[in-house]
Amino acid sequence: MQFNELHLNKPILKAVSEKNYDTPTLVQERSIPVILAKRDVIVSAQTGTGKTAAFALPILQMLYDRQNASVKKGRKIKSLIISPTRELAIQIEENFKTYSKYTNLRTTVVYGGASIEPQKDILRKGVDILIATPGRLLDLHKQDEINLDYIETFVLDEADLMLDMGFIDDVNKIEHLCPEKKQVLLFSATMPHKVVELSKTMLNNPERIEISPTSSVAKDVSQVLYYVPKPKKIELCLHLLRNSIKGSILIFRRTKYGVDKLEQTLLSNNYKVVTLHGDKSQSLRQEALKQFKNNEVNILIATDVAARGIDINDLDAVINFDLPNVPETYVHRIGRTGRAGKIGTAYSFCSADEKLYVAAIQKLINTQITIEEDHPYPLDPKAKPEVHKKQGSKYRKGRKSEASKKKKKRWY
Ligand code: AMP
Repeated sequence: MQFNELHLNKPILKAVSEKNYDTPTLVQERSIPVILAKRDVIVSAQTGTGKTAAFALPILQMLYDRQNASVKKGRKIKSLIISPTRELAIQIEENFKTYSKYTNLRTTVVYGGASIEPQKDILRKGVDILIATPGRLLDLHKQDEINLDYIETFVLDEADLMLDMGFIDDVNKIEHLCPEKKQVLLFSATMPHKVVELSKTMLNNPERIEISPTSSVAKDVSQVLYYVPKPKKIELCLHLLRNSIKGSILIFRRTKYGVDKLEQTLLSNNYKVVTLHGDKSQSLRQEALKQFKNNEVNILIATDVAARGIDINDLDAVINFDLPNVPETYVHRIGRTGRAGKIGTAYSFCSADEKLYVAAIQKLINTQITIEEDHPYPLDPKAKPEVHKKQGSKYRKGRKSEASKKKKKRWY
């Protein structure tokens, strides 16, 4: 299929061809006609499949058709896209701006962690398409800076992550602020039960589109597993960086504390490193991404949540410094390498207490990952999982007090 078979207008096709997209990706081919037919859709597709354009192009097309009439009546927000993370929101905005380059449609993005006044100024001038993170959107709505009465299309991107991050109430609130009659598009990398339940409350007779099940790993990724005692992971990482892993590298850690710790070690060993996690200010995160994408720095360390949805693909290597406890996350992580015909490598470090995760991952991908035994920090095969001091203590067994629940900080 070609882009011109998707019934998109010339200005949009021109912008697409300038991006050098030859043909629509599968998710675009399947979603665009359904969205243009004004149906609700629920799409399971991972980052990297071209899913942003799968909703951006038909939204622009639908708005472009009535553009002149709507400008005369004053610009109203007609499409709302909700994203769980700021980086993803910014990236979606960039996509909309690129594809609408030859139209007069206006797009803006609002997100927390950045000054609110400039966002208000842009909104007051009028926009057609708004991309937002949930908290800032509700803030601006409370301050009467946003009117959602004219929303025609409502997009929930990365719905699974949205729910994982605890945005369910905000998302419900936002949906209720929009008119009842609207088109709803739900995109999610995975389809856990809670996303399906959410879709039942928000979508009307949706078309289900499923792209590449998360259990399939790209052919061009070679996977290697290192059994290593937990305290030796940093040394193993340094050893591999010195001797074998080269190019652009994304290292995943489970917690932001872990990200910071590894960053310090690598910096003190003269590596160029940037990091992404939830505690970094917005401007620092943007700067880090820019440096990594421009190849000024070749190592990025991130938590899953911070890296989700972000267009950093085409990597030479992914290092799973900590193994994910959700097997699908492993597939997402390593899918960022081995693209565009290049061979990428996924290195996974497994300590004694992560062996169960390996079993779950291998079951999901239906493959035995090659074990590399030839390294200086092997794990004693009889090693027992390390017991964390606090685990099992009587203090951990009781229910958490309300105060401690409130104090709970984000760890991603
Ligand atoms: P996404 O899944 O939306 O994050 O997109 C992943 C990457 O694919 C982005 O860099 C897009 O610019 C790119 N992309 C989207 N659609 C196409 C297409 N039809 N052909 C080639 N690249 C595309």
